[in-house]
Amino acid sequence: MERKRVLITGAAGFLGSHLCDRFIKEDYHVIGMDNLITGDLQNIEHLFKLENFEFYHHDVSKFVYVPGKLDYILHFASPASPIDYLKIPIQTLKVGSLGTHNLLGLARNKGARMIIASTSEVYGDPSVNPQPEEYWGNVNPVGPRGVYDEAKRFQEAMTMAYHTFHGVETRIVRIFNTYGPRMRLNDGRVLPAFIGQALRGEDLTVFGDGSQTRSFCYVDDLIEGIYRLLMSDYALPVNIGNPDEITIKQFGEEIIKLTGTNQKLVLRDLPVDDPKQRRPDITKAREILGWEPKVNRADGLKITYAYFKSLPKEALFNKDHKDFTTYNR
Ligand code: UDP
Repeated sequence: MERKRVLITGAAGFLGSHLCDRFIKEDYHVIGMDNLITGDLQNIEHLFKLENFEFYHHDVSKFVYVPGKLDYILHFASPASPIDYLKIPIQTLKVGSLGTHNLLGLARNKGARMIIASTSEVYGDPSVNPQPEEYWGNVNPVGPRGVYDEAKRFQEAMTMAYHTFHGVETRIVRIFNTYGPRMRLNDGRVLPAFIGQALRGEDLTVFGDGSQTRSFCYVDDLIEGIYRLLMSDYALPVNIGNPDEITIKQFGEEIIKLTGTNQKLVLRDLPVDDPKQRRPDITKAREILGWEPKVNRADGLKITYAYFKSLPKEALFNKDHKDFTTYNR
């Protein structure tokens, strides 16, 4: 039987690469696409030898052409860390807006079902906790995170419009903080930041007083949730995340324990508009998808730490592997 064909954008990124693995495992023909601004080919290097994997080096903000039929499109291309939004704000806006529009056009043209990677950032700095899908959010459009938050909100609106107006089969996953192997070591997010600092023998930088909360989901759980949502018939947004909420200070203490280092926590300024609390209400995922996270933080962190430890020592000391300055067009 002919294989089903899936296009995964952001294929060389953290989540995109895990999605490629998952669809290869399900015996799909996987077409990966990435402009490699924040992605890294090392994440998918192991797939290039497969006859059912191909890769296009392309920026989805520009017209997207893929020959042949397509059954599914997963749009996972986007910078996804607050430091990246500061460095590449225009690209962040374009991939969520223009990129989504191009891919919805492709989905319509091919009769493909499309899932977009939305985010808990659509809730901004939430005034309700946990956040159910019905909460509309509290977003500052002109703050530093606005480029990401508003692109993602526009992306959801555009996706619903293609669904209702053009009848495209669409799915919207709102992803909460996720961690695991292949996170970029120097993207500024809290987990790679803390582990990198511990491995370099530096103190761990807690922003603000560390009382802000996050709820961290292990990547395998997230991928399973995304897969189930894509295969479901539910077109409204669904939160996927782990509701186990923790303060950033406690999280830092856990990382110190995990790494067995004697580092201290040091306090730094809180970034502008940093959400004070975040925890997914996953009632919908439970009821509609029969999904809930299975990997607890202790186990997930052990696997993730082993991954970071296995990276070449130099990687620890590179500030970042990319110079973003030419991309802001
Ligand atoms: N954070 C921190 N130290 C760091 C990096 C991040 O205390 O070195 C905090 C950050 O202020 C935020 C939380 O950790 O409150 C999660 O940050 P991250 O950038 O991972 O993702 P966010 O959930 O804010 O998008």
